[in-house]
Amino acid sequence: MLRLTELRIPLDPSAQQTDADYEQLAREAALAKLGLAPQDLTAFTVFKRGYDARQRRAIQLVFTLDIDSPRVPELLARFQEDPHVMPSPDTRYQFVAQAQANFGTEASQGLRPVVIGFGPCGLFAGLLLAQMGFRPIILERGKDVRRRTQDTWGLWRKRQLNENSNVQFGEGGAGTFSDGKLYSQIKDPAFRGRKVLTEFVAAGAPAEILYLSKPHIGTFKLVTMIEQMRHTIEQLGGEICFETQVTDLDIQGGALQGLTLQNGDYLATHHAVLAVGHSARDTFRMLHAKGVYIEAKAFSVGFRVEHPQSVIDTCRFGPFAGNPTLGAADYKLVHHCKNGRAVYSFCMCPGGTVVAATSEPERVVTNGMSQYSRNERNANAALVVGISPEDFPGNDPLAGVDFQQALESRAFVLGGRNYNAPAQRIGDFLAGRPSTSLGSVEPSYKPGVTPCDLSEAPPDYAIEALREAPPAFDRKTKGLCHG
Ligand SMILES: Cc1cc2nc3c(=O)[nH]c(=O)nc-3n(C[C@H](O)[C@H](O)[C@H](O)COP(=O)(O)OP(=O)(O)OC[C@H]3O[C@@H](n4cnc5c(N)ncnc54)[C@H](O)[C@@H]3O)c2cc1C
Repeated sequence: MLRLTELRIPLDPSAQQTDADYEQLAREAALAKLGLAPQDLTAFTVFKRGYDARQRRAIQLVFTLDIDSPRVPELLARFQEDPHVMPSPDTRYQFVAQAQANFGTEASQGLRPVVIGFGPCGLFAGLLLAQMGFRPIILERGKDVRRRTQDTWGLWRKRQLNENSNVQFGEGGAGTFSDGKLYSQIKDPAFRGRKVLTEFVAAGAPAEILYLSKPHIGTFKLVTMIEQMRHTIEQLGGEICFETQVTDLDIQGGALQGLTLQNGDYLATHHAVLAVGHSARDTFRMLHAKGVYIEAKAFSVGFRVEHPQSVIDTCRFGPFAGNPTLGAADYKLVHHCKNGRAVYSFCMCPGGTVVAATSEPERVVTNGMSQYSRNERNANAALVVGISPEDFPGNDPLAGVDFQQALESRAFVLGGRNYNAPAQRIGDFLAGRPSTSLGSVEPSYKPGVTPCDLSEAPPDYAIEALREAPPAFDRKTKGLCHG
């Protein structure tokens, strides 16, 4: 197999060409570059497809292709000076172990491994353990995804929060009600990301996620896929227990002996994967009290900004705005502020909605999600400022969690104590005056928003940075500061 990278095909301004047309053009361009006849090809796969929109009037699709032909050895020799022609790497995930044949039997006295939490981390820990033959037991405090969806709508529609079944807790974890963006900037030499995408496709995700440079699934599809993955784990001998919260660890002589569950039951195990995510603050406190090592890490706080998606499309894609091959445009912005803080856009959701994402009563947390089609009216993104452990004096590793909770409580009060999100027009925020009405952008957040002065929530250093960044962003992405 031979890999060809950086193969560029201009995007058709008339938007007539389909994905299949572009694939055909890429195939023809590859054959031309390599000097191959169509009958020389024995395999052809698009490994990656991205786009280069730096020149808005001449956007190009950028392909990485895997090609097989009996002539590959000769081609690799002929193109050895070309950095865009190379042998295709084997991107299959390699398992690190397999359970012994007698695992879990009385003879081996094997205790089954436990996974605590069934979010993306617990889902894949459970799936891999099951695929390796370890028959994991997965404990999840929330409900199965169908019942959980009803509870989540309870907050969005009726302002009723279920503390153990919401956007954060339940089957699929915080990943279920998400934009389903499936890319990261980390290096992945063991092809774990590829393994995740391959399993998602096996569970019903669109196959395009294997090659699009910014793969995305969307909430509705995720719900059925997660159910399918649960069935796969069960067929392999795993077990999933919902509404089962771990409330204590039994650690003796530095080794785990078992887990206590909220209903008082005890589960003996020597191996537990802690996949409890970022919102289980009660569990973090329990772990800290048990002496489990916990380290404070940097995080970010800020607001969600919403724009009409058409504004973002035009500013990113110019005359190509609305081209179906590109889809709804995103953006990614960073600004280094005078006070030493960095403000950046995060978790940008093209054609999506801002959602109420708290798991704790009388607190307001916002996040962004979208469906596969990404065709809601607005684009939204978090505009956040970095907070580091040094911002909290003392050596309590959970001081940042206390800070987050105070901020979320403040947001609840500013929103009117009814789970409305506090909101402000960006022009008012920059001018330092409270908003008393909304502008032309209709907020997507449910149950609703309350116009106010957002500078009454985060600390002054954060507000200062968050005020400095938007005009700088506007110079790159015209339209960000209006409305
Ligand atoms: C609305 C929204 C949109 C998002 N969009 C994206 C996106 O597009 N792309 C992206 O990469 N990330 C996105 N994220 C973030 C992403 O969802 C999280 O990073 C991811 O879910 C973390 O996975 P996790 O498995 O570590 O934890 P979680 O998803 O938080 O899952 C942890 C699970 O553990 C369970 N649990 C906790 N404590 C216990 C206990 N004591 N006993 C038993 N069970 C317990 C919880 O109920 C939960 O189900 C989004 C998040 C939200 C809320």
